[in-house]
Amino acid sequence: ILIVTFFIFWIIALVISYFLAKINMLPIVKSWKQQTEFVNDAAHELRTPLTIIQGKLEYMLTKPNKKIIDEAEAISVSLDEVNRLNSLTNNLLVLARSDSATTKLNFELTKPDFFLKDPIEPFKDIINSQSKVFQINLIHRPTLYLDRDKIKQLLIILLDNATKYTPKNGTIKIYDQMEGSKYQFVISDTGVGVVDKDKNKIFDRFYRVDKSRNTNSGGHGLGLAIAKQIVTVHKGHIYVRNNLPHGSEFVVELPIKH
Ligand code: ADP
Repeated sequence: ILIVTFFIFWIIALVISYFLAKINMLPIVKSWKQQTEFVNDAAHELRTPLTIIQGKLEYMLTKPNKKIIDEAEAISVSLDEVNRLNSLTNNLLVLARSDSATTKLNFELTKPDFFLKDPIEPFKDIINSQSKVFQINLIHRPTLYLDRDKIKQLLIILLDNATKYTPKNGTIKIYDQMEGSKYQFVISDTGVGVVDKDKNKIFDRFYRVDKSRNTNSGGHGLGLAIAKQIVTVHKGHIYVRNNLPHGSEFVVELPIKH
């Protein structure tokens, strides 16, 4: 009976998916599922810092006569969590806006130095102050058609990650190259690297390689999802490859305007 029931359900599932595919509903069903997962993950990420802040505030209220100075630890933890919430909600807004295509993109003809230089500057000092080496080797000047602010945001995400995931004495490098009719800029580091099975997944929303390893870095796994979205609206391509002997290279490929 069990086998027959299973078989009947399997046939029904097959028939339903056939009809959904026929009327072109499968992508819609898939995107509903993705949306639900996204909302679940977002709610989960929002709940954790909120619970910590709630706990700290309730604890402070149990001893209302204490001086502010005695509560410094609780206040500082709460402030850290508020900052995390702030950056998380900002990232969620960026993703939600680009999902609903309400963000107006400001495409213009431009050369790489006009969008690569500004974001790189502040990282020079940050990287050097952390006893890491920063090398820049940008030599090409093709004409590209893009939203400069968006590409700057993308570069900040990649440089920020390279800095976060590269230990002291490591090297972070940015260089560019031409690949046929494409322009590529590469952010290379000698950090922890990304194993093969994670190379695609790290661009998914909320995906983090090793949650325990990364808890101190303060992220939520949204940076690369935003990076990918930015590259996609520019009809480009982003991927990660190994930087031998250790570390990773994030390659951004953009079409050239002829
Ligand atoms: P976050 O850094 O906030 O966790 P991201 O979406 O920017 O989120 O990155 C997703 C995951 O990809 C990170 O948690 C990390 O495990 C991995 N990752 C990103 N950049 C690097 C890098 N340069 N080196 C090693 N791992 C990285």
